Amino acid sequence: MADGSHQALSKPDNSSPLLDGNAMVAKALARAGVDRMFGVVGIPVTSVATRAVAMGVRFIAFHNEQSAGYAASAYGYLTGRPGVLLTVSGPGCVHGLAGLSNAAVNAWPMVLISGSCDQKDFGRGDFQELDQIATVKPFSKFSAKPTSIKEIPNCVFQVLGHAVSGRPGGCYLDLPSDVLHETITESEAEKLLLEAESGWPQPNAIGTVGCSEIEAAVSLLRHAERPLIVFGKGAAFARAENGLRKFVESTGIPFLPTPMGKGLLPDTHELAATAARSLAIGKCDVALVVGARLNWLLHFGEPPKWSKDVKFILVDISKEEIEMRNPCLGLVGDAAKIMEMINKEIKNDPFCLGKSHPWVEAISKKSKENVSRMEAQLAKDVVPFNFLTPMRIIRDAILGVGSPAPILVSEGANTMDVGRSVLIQTEPRTRLDAGTWGTMGVGLGYCIAAAVASPGRLVVAVEGDSGFGFSAMEVETLVRYKLPVVIIVFNNGGVYGGDRRSSEEITGPYKDDPAPTSFVPDSAYHKLIEAFGGHGYLVGTPSELQSALAESFSARKPAVINVIIDPYAGSESGRMQHKN
Ligand code: ADP
Ligand code: MG
Repeated sequence: MADGSHQALSKPDNSSPLLDGNAMVAKALARAGVDRMFGVVGIPVTSVATRAVAMGVRFIAFHNEQSAGYAASAYGYLTGRPGVLLTVSGPGCVHGLAGLSNAAVNAWPMVLISGSCDQKDFGRGDFQELDQIATVKPFSKFSAKPTSIKEIPNCVFQVLGHAVSGRPGGCYLDLPSDVLHETITESEAEKLLLEAESGWPQPNAIGTVGCSEIEAAVSLLRHAERPLIVFGKGAAFARAENGLRKFVESTGIPFLPTPMGKGLLPDTHELAATAARSLAIGKCDVALVVGARLNWLLHFGEPPKWSKDVKFILVDISKEEIEMRNPCLGLVGDAAKIMEMINKEIKNDPFCLGKSHPWVEAISKKSKENVSRMEAQLAKDVVPFNFLTPMRIIRDAILGVGSPAPILVSEGANTMDVGRSVLIQTEPRTRLDAGTWGTMGVGLGYCIAAAVASPGRLVVAVEGDSGFGFSAMEVETLVRYKLPVVIIVFNNGGVYGGDRRSSEEITGPYKDDPAPTSFVPDSAYHKLIEAFGGHGYLVGTPSELQSALAESFSARKPAVINVIIDPYAGSESGRMQHKN
């Protein structure tokens, strides 16, 4: 890391170099291991960003704090270290809440850092004044505000530590502009940094799981007739893939990943129950659920989707989560460590279902049936494009890249639903989607986070036109930082596609306005990136799509592929019509 002393301000007598608050923040971040920051600069934080860059922290400057915040949240998930978002005060902080809330809801570590107004002017209408500590409260695990420069190191270390301790989430650091302008001697700064380092909370202190609980879990699984293991993005965050693979392969128990758990074990694994999801969750009698909440995505673990007699064994870092779900057995702790303990216990007295076990056979048969039905649909070349034909072509192009597999970003209604079942994940943490909140507008931020988290790795986004539109201006950011990101836009002219209103809904004085779900048809999204020097492709046939993918994947340069889809393919609200 570069030494910050050359940037120090000097006292008039030149005897002892001084640091200002901006440099102090930057130095503390760098010392705490922060290597990337996302954000939008302006008063009073511009110098925090430039000082951080000078200390070896890469700063990715966005157009909108919302996208930058989504990037920071995903960076935290992908790297296991807090993603950092820097914003200005007031409106900047409010825009940043999108990312902070996304981190809180997805249980990803992130720190929002916002400048704030001068402490002495607060309450009398200062520039961009806001009580930011109160504003972030619903989404912040821990917030800190240094009231003098001396408090900066401790505040920086505390927010970063809290973001990753226990259940990961968002934390907040408030930086009043007067504190950023204070100065301190280098030697005192060093002393404060050492103190802050020694008081840093330890991340992911393991829970209190004892041998007897592990034995009880293994006994339940051993005696189950129809056991299942479900794993989610908490297991991905914990990097539990080796333990999960060992468990599945030694016991022969079928597995079901949640959408972002996909890839912890390859989707193509013979024990994958993804294509037999309804059967697997509807009929299992013991379910080991690792780093995945029994929330709406898993139908709350209740009938009719699950059997009323299913016994859940929940593994989660959050004791509160386990208490709230009240499972048959709860194991509080880190997923990777608990899987290791479970595997060790099994090793002492191994058991394995084997391919001819009736439960394994039933799942495998159902999977094969569903897969071959889907493949028959996918095999058709439908033009004008439906969702399936281009998705198959994209799937094959992604598989053709090999390892390391591209990181896939996906959002949209039909686009995300179809993508989830058609696209194949073979490596851990290669899928970023709308997540626990079903957040639309995350795509470009996630792409940028993925590209900077794994330099050199290809990032492919499969986006609905509506999802893309939330943050389309960030294509300039892709071009500016020369990131290897290919964005594929499924362009069906709107949210869900074409106008699907019934005749009685098309009435009143504004009936001739476009439908609330409609955009300009056949928009030239590919030209947006061309405005900044990136590559754009307009495609409407299989061969055009194949050649655009081949060219852009091998170029590894920012590109937008505008895929024209039949506006009446797919359905309103995707697979969630019942909620609209
Ligand atoms: P998914 O959307 O994939 O189902 P969720 O976000 O609902 O996943 O659940 C993830 C769960 O993982 C959260 O309850 C969170 O507390 C938990 N978690 C986070 N980190 C860890 C970890 N290191 N070990 C175990 N569980 C974890
Ligand atoms: Mg659309």
